[in-house]
Amino acid sequence: MNSKVQPKLIIHGGAGSSLQGKGGVEKVRRSLYKVVEEVYSVLMSGGTASEAVVKGCQMLEDDPCFNAGTGSVLQSDGQVRMSAALMDGITQSFSGVINITRIQNPIDLAKALQSSSDRVLSDYGAAELARELQIPSYNPLTDLRLEEWLQERQDNFKKTMAGVVAEKELVSNGNAGRGTIGVVALDSQGNLSAGTSTGGKGFERIGRVSDSAMPAGNYATKDAAVSCTGIGEDIIDECLAPRVVVRVGDGMTLQDAMQRSFNESHQNKRDLGAIALDAKGTIAWGKTSEVLLAAYHNGEKIGDTLDESEEMQVGCC
Ligand code: ASP
Repeated sequence: MNSKVQPKLIIHGGAGSSLQGKGGVEKVRRSLYKVVEEVYSVLMSGGTASEAVVKGCQMLEDDPCFNAGTGSVLQSDGQVRMSAALMDGITQSFSGVINITRIQNPIDLAKALQSSSDRVLSDYGAAELARELQIPSYNPLTDLRLEEWLQERQDNFKKTMAGVVAEKELVSNGNAGRGTIGVVALDSQGNLSAGTSTGGKGFERIGRVSDSAMPAGNYATKDAAVSCTGIGEDIIDECLAPRVVVRVGDGMTLQDAMQRSFNESHQNKRDLGAIALDAKGTIAWGKTSEVLLAAYHNGEKIGDTLDESEEMQVGCC
């Protein structure tokens, strides 16, 4: 195992249609940079990739701007149900919770399940675990998300997904998008980890299962790690995260693996995005949606994808 590797980090706050106005972009940039700075310092002080991923997911879940934890979108029946997953690349162990309610940080449950023999729990089981761990009850609903849902109910739930970020302007002009959060990290030991957390698509049927708590949306090995966002059904149909990771494991560069996988997603008219890292420290992102809200730290500086064009795009550094 490497003893000293330059840590790398990439995070996302969802993918979808363009944000309204400069104000929206700057607000999201500030939120993402704050998380990148704090989580990168965890990696620099010797924290493991999974510790950094959990910390980043908690911070993004706590930011009401993003569709995960506080600020999660509402499902068709007006309830918030959240899903989250964590995958450690070195143990190649996936854990997650599906459709959990009344908890502040779903990623904490995914973390607790890493060492369990039953590693993915849904609604009742996840709620029972939260009780066992004595996690306090918490209501993640925000006024803006409720307003968005009430407006959608008036329109008879025509939209396929909720707003990418909770932005006043977006809610009032009915612009569709998506949101979810994800963190991918490489630590100073050369280990990778990926975490993803979501409130779902918004306005979905009760019992619908998000890609975020499936390997399709969140996957890591010792070679590469990926977190996805976008329409969950599209991500599942492409099996996007393992598709990229396995290609890297088979010898493709991360950039080529992302390019090929996104070309395929584009051909198949999918609406999605992903962030990725490989064990060599290559940072990559890709999207077929108009925007991908991602930011990264490459060891020297922070960068982001907020000003990229609305075309299908794959980036690497
Ligand atoms: N992928 C998530 C889902 O379909 C939504 C998102 O990424 O915004 O549940």
